[in-house]
Amino acid sequence: MAGLFDLTGKTALVTGARTGIGAALAETLAQAGADVVGLGSRTMPETRAAVEAHGVRFHEIIRDLEAGGDFAALLADAADRFGAPDILVNNAGIIRRADLVDFTEADWDAVMAINLKSLFFLSQAAARDWIARGVEGRIVNIASLLSFQGGIRVPSYTASKHGVLGLTRLMANELAGKRITVNAIAPGYIETDNTAPLRADPVRSRQILDRIPAGRWGLPDDLKTALLFLAAPGSSYVTGTVVPVDGGWLAR
Ligand code: NAP
Repeated sequence: MAGLFDLTGKTALVTGARTGIGAALAETLAQAGADVVGLGSRTMPETRAAVEAHGVRFHEIIRDLEAGGDFAALLADAADRFGAPDILVNNAGIIRRADLVDFTEADWDAVMAINLKSLFFLSQAAARDWIARGVEGRIVNIASLLSFQGGIRVPSYTASKHGVLGLTRLMANELAGKRITVNAIAPGYIETDNTAPLRADPVRSRQILDRIPAGRWGLPDDLKTALLFLAAPGSSYVTGTVVPVDGGWLAR
């Protein structure tokens, strides 16, 4: 059974691997046997330790995704270490909160650049490489409940996460015939830095908790099995889909 999810000999690139969901997903891939390349704007010694504890290799790439740039060179850097990534997890993301009437262009641009633009162009670079070499690839995008719902006070985040789901489908359609799958995970309300302001607000925190059928906030570890499923070698016929991991939020 474990062999179905065995990633031994594979390399996975995880963006935003320093904290929260990305750190948990990097460790999951390591647990399944993959070498991991962690990308973030800051060094990530804790992620390195967690990955290496599973007996696989870790390489860190420090890169500000808001700045864009040459993603083919970034992948070549990863490839120089362990061989080109077979799995790309587009997890890095930020959120900016303000009332609609006060929302700034800077908060629009920063969120769209990191959450959506870098996701597309990094995926494009990976797809070009996989197609050129004729190998299989896996892309897993981290979407959101706000890929389906409007949210409040987060216009650029909602636009970006609706875009992530749309691009997941578009990329899946174009790449399915080339042995590349593209899927998404939509986390519910997860305890990370991203949601710290919500949890610090007792009214908002209670409103959210009361609406979650599971009766608790999610933890980064709750997302591990969804990633294993989508990254698994045997999941080659699963593409263009999104797996919500939300304690039942969307079912309500
Ligand atoms: P988080 O702890 O704040 O993680 C965000 C990660 O993104 C950080 O590791 C950060 O790394 C990286 N990042 C941010 N700006 C970057 C930049 N300019 N360049 C490179 N990396 C950058 O929050 P999280 O909740 O784990 O978020 C991970 C993903 O899950 C995001 O896409 C988020 O939208 C999504 N999500 C979260 C929730 C939730 O409830 N927490 C729900 C739905 C979706 P550095 O600090 O190294 O830059």
